[in-house]
Amino acid sequence: MPTSAGEWLERIRALALPERVKVLNVCGGHERSISMSGLRTALPASIELIPGPGCPVCVCPEEDVYEAIQLARRENLTVLAFGDMLRVPVNVPRSEPRSLEQAKAAGADIRPIASPIEAVRIAESLGSRPVVFFAAGFETTMAPVAAMLAEGVPDNLSVLLSGRLTWPAVSLLLGDSREVGFDALIAPGHVATVMGPEEWEFVSRQHGMPAAVAGFRPDTLLAALYSVLRQHLSGCAELENCYPEVVRPGGNPRAQHLLRATMTIADANWRGIGTIPRSGFELKEIYAAHDARRAFPSFRDETRKRMGEMPPGCDCARVVLGKLYPDQCRLYGVACTPRSPIGPCMVSDEGACRIWWAAGKRKNERASGIAAEA
Ligand code: SF4
Repeated sequence: MPTSAGEWLERIRALALPERVKVLNVCGGHERSISMSGLRTALPASIELIPGPGCPVCVCPEEDVYEAIQLARRENLTVLAFGDMLRVPVNVPRSEPRSLEQAKAAGADIRPIASPIEAVRIAESLGSRPVVFFAAGFETTMAPVAAMLAEGVPDNLSVLLSGRLTWPAVSLLLGDSREVGFDALIAPGHVATVMGPEEWEFVSRQHGMPAAVAGFRPDTLLAALYSVLRQHLSGCAELENCYPEVVRPGGNPRAQHLLRATMTIADANWRGIGTIPRSGFELKEIYAAHDARRAFPSFRDETRKRMGEMPPGCDCARVVLGKLYPDQCRLYGVACTPRSPIGPCMVSDEGACRIWWAAGKRKNERASGIAAEA
């Protein structure tokens, strides 16, 4: 069994690959590792690695970000959010703050945090001042939020929850077999660590598509890539766990218990994509006292122009769904850069556009793209 990235590459190069094989990597962490290590250029040209929907900041509904901004501006309270969320732009007139960062600059008490523990510490330090924790993320982020709630939080701390499950987005992509734009799937290792690799078995069982759970180093990613390519060539489909040192059968039962104890699963909106059935986390009734949506007035404004939409010209939704490469967006590197991001995919460290830019990818250097070959 190969142990190094070089050995896995040799194995992959020795495969009798078809003219074109497309592999979707779900996770933003995988995309970062692939882009930063230059894996695409090392692989045979027939292999396309397509970034998928694994960026929680990118899919967080625009109206949730707007809600957090308005709470911070209009109520006498403190808003806490993970750092990536602060720069996500929303659709408002130029006279208003377009992001949490701009609202903070205009005087609102908004603080970046790195973990739920930090949220509790800040709430405790502020006495009776209301604190709202804008908690957006996937299963790996929701588990620590659930642990925080289960352990008990200060009376002044409430949660504006915007949690999402990853597998329903992939299920959506696989739903219409005529439109599926990839041949195999690399499943997210971190999510499988929490929820168990079994959650991804539907890919092979229901859709007959090769799948493998991968870690984040190039060697473990290449092991997963080799697995799905070998399956593809042999015409079989199964889920292989290529990250067994971390991902255990059944996942993390304690984390799953905490999630079930504090949250329910509901239909949820994904930015630019729409509602995906049973893809979101909601706080259970017993945590109503800590639910910011109940504790404070709603600032949803249904008449707001372009509510919930992507900015004009931004192709983030298609990038997130693996239907377009970042550099196929006409704004990529032209109007949209990490310094002045237009869409959320250029804001987050897990966003494909930002990752590609950070990896040195510039406008339309590739000869082909997903859309061009669809
Ligand atoms: S380059 Fe910018 S505008 Fe285009 S899809 Fe990416 S984030 Fe959106």
